[in-house]
Amino acid sequence: MQDLKLKANDNRGMSQLEAGFDLLGWDEVTQGSVLPSFDGDASDIVNKKAEERTYSGFNSYTATVASWRVNKPVFNIDVCIDCQNCWVWCPDSSILSRDKQMLGIDYDHCKGCEVCVEVCPTNPKSLLMFNEHTDLEVALSEWPEKKKKEK
Ligand code: SF4
Ligand code: SF4
Repeated sequence: MQDLKLKANDNRGMSQLEAGFDLLGWDEVTQGSVLPSFDGDASDIVNKKAEERTYSGFNSYTATVASWRVNKPVFNIDVCIDCQNCWVWCPDSSILSRDKQMLGIDYDHCKGCEVCVEVCPTNPKSLLMFNEHTDLEVALSEWPEKKKKEK
């Protein structure tokens, strides 16, 4: 993590941080402090893929919450219709999607909340929760069949 300290308040009351000094505790950062999400010039960051971005030490991307999970979502590409519901609703940006194609789960940042499973509209669902320690191949082999509508 990058070492930072408060440098000064500018005339709008915004605090600046300067690299190379002692690390601030969370309770030492004053209101209006700016914690940069990226190092360097981030003006074109929206056009960069996650792995190309220069995340700063403040960015939650640099921390993992994988250990919070008891159950994990498993993705079944054979059932998915790429509707992007899971991508829109995931509170932790942990759905990996490129060019509107669902690719899988970012297990470093998924906390296992199950929201993606709830919003998946397919029959059977393309995302299901399994015990954290379940092997992905085993989970896929246990996928339920399509449910028929009751008449
Ligand atoms: S379980 Fe929650 S955090 Fe993980 S991918 Fe699904 S919606 Fe995102
Ligand atoms: S919500 Fe379900 S069907 Fe839609 S993209 Fe996500 S996994 Fe695929």
